[in-house]
Amino acid sequence: MKTFSSCIIVGAGISGLLAATRLQRDGVQVTVLEKGRGFGGRMATRRIEKAVFDHGAQFVTTREAAFRELVEGWMEEGLARPWYKGPLGNMRYVGVNGMNTVPKALGAKLNVLRSEKVTRLKWDKNRWVVFADASDEEGKITKKRHEAEYLVLSAPVPQSLKLLQESNIDLDYDEEEELSRITYTKCITAMVHLNGPAGLPNPGAMDLNHPVLRWIGDNSVKNVSPVPGSITINSSPKFAERYWDASDEERLPVLLDAARPFIKADVVSAVGHRWGFSDPVRIYREKEPFRKPYYIDSEHPFALCGDGFGGARIEAAAISGMQLAEKLVRPI
Ligand SMILES: Cc1cc2nc3c(=O)[nH]c(=O)nc-3n(C[C@H](O)[C@H](O)[C@H](O)COP(=O)(O)OP(=O)(O)OC[C@H]3O[C@@H](n4cnc5c(N)ncnc54)[C@H](O)[C@@H]3O)c2cc1C
Repeated sequence: MKTFSSCIIVGAGISGLLAATRLQRDGVQVTVLEKGRGFGGRMATRRIEKAVFDHGAQFVTTREAAFRELVEGWMEEGLARPWYKGPLGNMRYVGVNGMNTVPKALGAKLNVLRSEKVTRLKWDKNRWVVFADASDEEGKITKKRHEAEYLVLSAPVPQSLKLLQESNIDLDYDEEEELSRITYTKCITAMVHLNGPAGLPNPGAMDLNHPVLRWIGDNSVKNVSPVPGSITINSSPKFAERYWDASDEERLPVLLDAARPFIKADVVSAVGHRWGFSDPVRIYREKEPFRKPYYIDSEHPFALCGDGFGGARIEAAAISGMQLAEKLVRPI
């Protein structure tokens, strides 16, 4: 039996939301703190004027039966739909109104406090005290304080580790070493409005193995954007590393020049976004025979989950959050 009745989850990405859903189902009083304004983390959909862009993850794949069942449930609820089969023959699924549809629906059933960035953690005798900066529409910051018996950190692992270290929460030396080996690639995204349909080959998307580009997708052909020629361009990790500190004025033209041979319309406008933690390069206990899809601390009541524990996929992040919560409610 679990030994706690309240839990704070840092991060409303898919791993945090699914962990929260499972814990809440078991009667735990869950508060999710999310620094962004929306739900879903890297499952991100953004509106720019009338156009809509999936600008993080582009589709969901299902390798494991448990996750396939979950995605089938999302389809029955009208939240997700099949898109097309990838090069290996696996179906790629999308949210009905964009990748953000599922996280938004999950978040609506939970107590998620958005625009609250967790800045410090304190273990105070038998409770966690979690400090956060809450920002309003005008960017005004208010200091907040939350308390709970258990804590789950679902941000990309380097961000969770930084928070723990800055809060002087000590981890076992070997575990800290292992966790600090989990590093991520970066990605620069351009959300581009064209003066007509992009003319990308069916299904309006291309996986690219290109020095500058990783993906071009037409959000209107994907039925996410009502505006023809609303495309997302995701860069290669190499490009992102090289242009990380450059301005959009400098890097977007390079990205657009690389994409031009694939696109059959002209660029009207482009907005950039930087993903500092795109894909984990190495995951937790990658080289060990006994992999674990989460980290549970042996000294303090806290745990870590997310794609750093399973791989750079929505499925891996989702399984991490779900299995962690299952372990916490049924430890044996
Ligand atoms: C450009 C791009 C393309 C991708 N394409 C695909 C794809 O097509 N298919 C696929 O399966 N996967 C894809 N991925 C990977 C996939 O998006 C991730 O593996 C998955 O969404 C990770 O979920 P998560 O819950 O682990 O983390 P996240 O989604 O990163 O969620 C963590 C959350 O924690 C929040 N947070 C962090 N620090 C704090 C703090 N201090 N206080 C409060 N909140 C905090 C963040 O804002 C975030 O919302 C892609 C990723 C990127 C960036």
